[in-house]
Amino acid sequence: MVWRVLMFSLLQLACAAAGGLLLGPWGVVGGVVLAAWLAFGWETWSGQRVIRWLRGDGAASSAPVLRGLWGEAAARMRRRLRQQEQQALASGQRLQEFLAALQASPNGVVLLDPQGHMEWFNQTAAQHFGLDAGRDLQQQIGNLLRDPNFSAYLARPDDAQDLVLNARASTPERPQRLAVRLHPYGEGRRLLLSRDITQLEQAEAMRRDFVANVSHEIRTPLTVLAGFIETMQSLPLSEAERARYLGLMAQQAQRMQHLVQDLLTLSRLEGSPLPGFQTWTPVAALLRPCEDEAHTLSALLTPAGAAPQTLVFPTQDELRAAGELAGDPAELQSALSNLVTNAVRYTPTGGRITVQWQRLPDGGARFAVHDTGPGIAAEHLPRLTERFYRIDRSRSRDTGGTGLGLAIVKHVLQRHDARLHIASVPGQGSVFSVDFPAGRLRDAALARPGAASA
Ligand code: ADP
Repeated sequence: MVWRVLMFSLLQLACAAAGGLLLGPWGVVGGVVLAAWLAFGWETWSGQRVIRWLRGDGAASSAPVLRGLWGEAAARMRRRLRQQEQQALASGQRLQEFLAALQASPNGVVLLDPQGHMEWFNQTAAQHFGLDAGRDLQQQIGNLLRDPNFSAYLARPDDAQDLVLNARASTPERPQRLAVRLHPYGEGRRLLLSRDITQLEQAEAMRRDFVANVSHEIRTPLTVLAGFIETMQSLPLSEAERARYLGLMAQQAQRMQHLVQDLLTLSRLEGSPLPGFQTWTPVAALLRPCEDEAHTLSALLTPAGAAPQTLVFPTQDELRAAGELAGDPAELQSALSNLVTNAVRYTPTGGRITVQWQRLPDGGARFAVHDTGPGIAAEHLPRLTERFYRIDRSRSRDTGGTGLGLAIVKHVLQRHDARLHIASVPGQGSVFSVDFPAGRLRDAALARPGAASA
């Protein structure tokens, strides 16, 4: 301040001296007045530039560079503006990061203002509700989602329950179910969250069906067993009758045992780690037990006097050339054996079952079981590997089936990167084949030089 007074006085002195020298005493007065006008003009011009800057874009970068009082005021304003601009930039960035996080959410997120207009929504919400950011922002959500349950839900702001509804893209063939929930925040604003619960609902339905099926499968033999026990307790029976009843009871007990065994196998498969590539088993070692089992079962199921089934398996030489398979030998053996025993069980006496092992051009291999059984109508084929799915219940039961065999086979094969194909012509027979990928096969001779056979 002192500096400014000093400068103003010096200017006046200089102008007065110059005026005095040039024009005498009136020149001194004129110099003082001129100095005052010069100072006034300078300050007005500087102030005018600052005002023009503030009226214009007012950005820190275009602030005028001035000296004097106005110069300092402009510099301070510029510094303050720069700080504010940096703060605004930082909060803008934070907002973008926050929206990006909401965008990445697997759940649908819609921000609603107090009147129910959509202020923002993420991609998932757009997919769930069929929204378009260009068209639907700032629209009333109630106008776009016309489900009456949703309208009622919107009208009850403090409903703490989820509302379950169909997604916009849901069709009867491909249902998509959503659980939506409104959460109030801020002043009258609401957050609408949507979650895809299609898989959850399907898993729940499967679990319910599974429990109902298991209960049914166990209840039937239990009822039969309880009936026999009651009969034996209450009626005097001959030795022959007792023996017959005990035989039937043993059959039912065995049925339950098979069921429990298969259920345990399934749960073991679901809980155990995937079979790796450490264990290599000769294909021959997997197929020989299948062959033995098939012969035993076929003999057991063929009534005395009936024509036996013809069972054809790969020859010794074919088995020697088959190589080795990577995976869990017990799982693989049980899956292959299951396909062979199914063919034996469902093919009538006198029929033919042919088991083949072929190397494929891509380095993989195909295991195939052909039978001349009743065949399977096309509509059943996609469902055969479902748990407890059977075409002929009584045949399955009579031959000791649980309805879980093919479900286990499919599971085991998936764990070994293999695929099951079923082809069948009703009245002529079926072919169950399994394709193993090249990565799970190796040549036995190459793997262990000098090894003659498995
Ligand atoms: P199950 O214990 O009843 O045999 P699976 O899961 O092994 O159960 O088989 C499911 C159903 O597939 C069987 O009930 C049967 O109807 C049908 N099926 C399986 N293999 C054959 C086959 N080789 N020929 C005809 N039908 C078959």
